[in-house]
Amino acid sequence: MRKKIVAGNWKMNKSAAEARELVAAINAELGDCECPVEVVVCPPFTAIESAGTALAGSRIALGAQNMSERSAGAFTGEVSASMLTSLGVKYVILGHSERRTLYGETDAIVNAKVRAAINAGLNPIVCVGETLQERETGAMDDVVTRQVQQSLAGVTGDELKAGKVVVAYEPVWAIGTGKTASKEQAQEMHALVRRVLAEMTSGIAAAAVRIQYGGSMKPENAAELLAMPDIDGGLIGGAALQADSFVAIIKAGC
Ligand code: PEP
Repeated sequence: MRKKIVAGNWKMNKSAAEARELVAAINAELGDCECPVEVVVCPPFTAIESAGTALAGSRIALGAQNMSERSAGAFTGEVSASMLTSLGVKYVILGHSERRTLYGETDAIVNAKVRAAINAGLNPIVCVGETLQERETGAMDDVVTRQVQQSLAGVTGDELKAGKVVVAYEPVWAIGTGKTASKEQAQEMHALVRRVLAEMTSGIAAAAVRIQYGGSMKPENAAELLAMPDIDGGLIGGAALQADSFVAIIKAGC
């Protein structure tokens, strides 16, 4: 039985002080809710420490939005996996479509980051998903298959069984657009991701992997998406910036 995981990707939003306030508001809104959903917040680098202080002792885990594939050295502007773990970070989003399209991250780069994250004890949330044009031309299965195969190349069945990797299926056309994949479209793609993982490792290993849906998930559509058999949580952008909508999505997964 896979435990659902809902993660908030705050993107380039929230100062250190605002992060503290948002975490406190999420905790207050969660109250004594004990639903078995893992909750993660991924602030920008500059707010990780204050968010970490605010969530100490709560059920919320800390994530980051990116990291370098390198461990240390002359890489101006970069942040290593061990710098993140030293702040209590447990998850790191890798290969988000904004990183792929705006910053030129290839599957090979994402794969190097995945390896570095796992080696450092971080759990990567690896994003895959097709563009609108790729969906309209029917290329989505090939695109997502290639992204999974190449971004997760070398990840072992044992690592998958140990829950070290989360995959986020995020159709690019649904991110920040208000358009959501239908529950059937999302389920189809999640099942595809799981089949590809099974071919790369084993059916048992693939069955252990949590696959999040991301793309305009909100309180109104979360319950029906999260009820699908291969949808194991959500990666939430816009709706994660307010405690009430983020917690409503978490509760929809209970
Ligand atoms: C995202 O950026 O990962 C995302 C899913 O954003 P939104 O929920 O705003 O579409």
